[in-house]
Amino acid sequence: MKPVCSVAKDEDISKAVFQALSKIDLPDLTGKNILLKPNVGRKAKKNTAINTSPDVVKAVFDYLRLNYRADYFIGDSPITGVVSREAFIESGYSPLMNRKDLLYLDFDKRKPLTLKITDGRILHEIKVTGYFKDFDYIISIPVLKMHMHTGATLSLKNMKGMIYKKEKVKLHQLHCSDAVKKSFKELDIAIADLSDVLAPDLAIIDAYYAMEGMGPSAGDRVKMNTIISSTDYHAADVVALALAGMKIEQVPHLQLLSERRKGIRSIDDIETIPGNITPLVTRLKPPPKEIKINNCKVNLIDFGSCSACLYSIFQFLTNNDKVIENYFQEYGHMNIAVGKGIPDPSAETFLVGNCTIHKKHQGIFIKGCPPTQSSILEAIGTNEGSQS
Ligand code: SF4
Repeated sequence: MKPVCSVAKDEDISKAVFQALSKIDLPDLTGKNILLKPNVGRKAKKNTAINTSPDVVKAVFDYLRLNYRADYFIGDSPITGVVSREAFIESGYSPLMNRKDLLYLDFDKRKPLTLKITDGRILHEIKVTGYFKDFDYIISIPVLKMHMHTGATLSLKNMKGMIYKKEKVKLHQLHCSDAVKKSFKELDIAIADLSDVLAPDLAIIDAYYAMEGMGPSAGDRVKMNTIISSTDYHAADVVALALAGMKIEQVPHLQLLSERRKGIRSIDDIETIPGNITPLVTRLKPPPKEIKINNCKVNLIDFGSCSACLYSIFQFLTNNDKVIENYFQEYGHMNIAVGKGIPDPSAETFLVGNCTIHKKHQGIFIKGCPPTQSSILEAIGTNEGSQS
């Protein structure tokens, strides 16, 4: 039997959530401890498609509590350098956090526990939030967005927010032989490995506002007014991709899952509701192969960085186009290196983050884990015009 995935589109996103959820068979969740796991990984304004919309999460909560008397929790662990509570508040979650019938948890506040991944290809154990075992039913509620590292980020990748604090960085710094890699990146293999221990029970994908292009934080927002839901997270992720006009091959960790599970290889292996989703497709621009700010091509040398440094870099790049243009007029190019595994840089390369400290005498080092966007601006602004 094919997995079922429902799709609903409505200008009123609350109606879309109710419609999508009413079309799938949920188990009886009465008396369960249910976790709502949105993507609230960054301090970002509400409905900017960087984090999951609180409007979507509220509608999910409303639907569930109408149907099941249960204990409800909400939480996430953000990228390095971000405080969870601050990210939730900035993103418009205060009304939900203040409710008596929904308990907000800062996942980083309890000592972690270690999960063994017995069949992992590259990842054999992972530290997750100490709250993990408290939940009977986990609902992954990601926002649909493109991702420069992984193609797109959806309901499986959203489960990275269950990983304890800086343990997330580990996924970006793994190495394995070519035989294990088989043309996939270590990060993609690691995310696929995570599915053994962190698979959500239900996926509800927020495509109210999606992000195209330079995701996960510097892309463009696109209003889709769409919700995708399935008790098979892999099906939900593949359908979300199809709605964005993309294929499974563009998101390698989903392709790896297809090979391992020998199940879903394309949208044809899923029973969608409605049967024909073509009228609901909004083509999104995939992540670009190169980074251009006002025709200035930034050379990003990225070997094993995590999302936190990339977030600071993209915030800097998108908010300071004048500084970048001036720098290009002076030097004709800009090199930014990030991540532990970078090769020997040229002297004018900006080395972003403490992971690059071992090369600090070979380039222009910007400290921090991650550095703030203002410290990147300070370093690049200071060097602008210094070689006249
Ligand atoms: S220095 Fe940057 S890439 Fe390295 S762990 Fe810190 S945030 Fe991640």
